[in-house]
Amino acid sequence: MSPRGPDPDASGREAAGGGEPPRDEDGWIGAIARRFPPGPRVRVGLGHDAAVVAFDGRDVVLKTDTVIDGVDFRLAACGARAAARKALAVTVSDLAAMAALPRACVVSAVLPRGIDFATFDALAAGFEDGARETDCEVVGGDTSVADAPLVLTVAAIGEPGPHGVVTRAGARPGMDLSVTGPLGGSILGRHLTFAPRVREAQVLAALGVPAAMMDLSDGLSTDLPRLAARSGVGAEVDAEALPVHPDVARLADGVAPWRHALDDGEDFELLLAHAPLSAATRAALAAADVTLHRVGRVTAAAGGVTLREGGRTVPLRRGGFDHLRSHPAGPTGG
Ligand SMILES: [Mg+2]
Repeated sequence: MSPRGPDPDASGREAAGGGEPPRDEDGWIGAIARRFPPGPRVRVGLGHDAAVVAFDGRDVVLKTDTVIDGVDFRLAACGARAAARKALAVTVSDLAAMAALPRACVVSAVLPRGIDFATFDALAAGFEDGARETDCEVVGGDTSVADAPLVLTVAAIGEPGPHGVVTRAGARPGMDLSVTGPLGGSILGRHLTFAPRVREAQVLAALGVPAAMMDLSDGLSTDLPRLAARSGVGAEVDAEALPVHPDVARLADGVAPWRHALDDGEDFELLLAHAPLSAATRAALAAADVTLHRVGRVTAAAGGVTLREGGRTVPLRRGGFDHLRSHPAGPTGG
């Protein structure tokens, strides 16, 4: 496990110099990371999908995530049960990304003033759904009421699987980049119904496949540069190799399907860097019903993160999907 704690990215260092504030979320986080130097208990600190902390000789994996009505779901469209299930699933997805096994979680809800009991009960049912599906028991929580949209936060604890955790830091030039499923069009409903890839991560880890791994929450074009930066490498995505989810055809918005696969968020598939697969490993993955779609390769850092498309290689533009701004329909809950 090579990464240990904060490593502000370029924009973070820029801000620390006292000039312009950082330009994006990654920059903001990079700028504050130096306030939290990892102590001796920290095995994996800021900048990965989850943290790993040692307690009494055992490692535990920690993660929290928040979803908000109007940003990550639309309560009026999808209902409270689907929203709460999503809140738990997005958090567990980050544990899966570390090849950790979810164990327990606490949930926190900011309830809109005037909420009725049926909605509150549906939230509980959604958390129950997520907990059962992912084997991540709900063991406590907190509620507040505010003149605000519904906000759901899940903080989860996991333990490393039998083959240890996988971080974002192990990618090396020459490795392949693969994803565990087709991408794009999650706005049509999969952003609510996806299954965190806990099992797939365990299969991959047991076969020693992933050198670096993360889950795709913000879209490949936004998330891949994060993995590359954390590993200190470059990357090249092959547009023609991108596995496009059938949902993309239903969007029918004139945008190239591969562009949706590259930019749409909330697929929650795993992205991993790995050495080229042997025939035996391929057979073992197939036997375990785990599919890897190769989307590109790891390159030297100097090359940056690029996109190969139509015979040209161009810098990869970050086009991560925003559920509210990028598609006129917004989240449908469908
Ligand atoms: Mg993640």
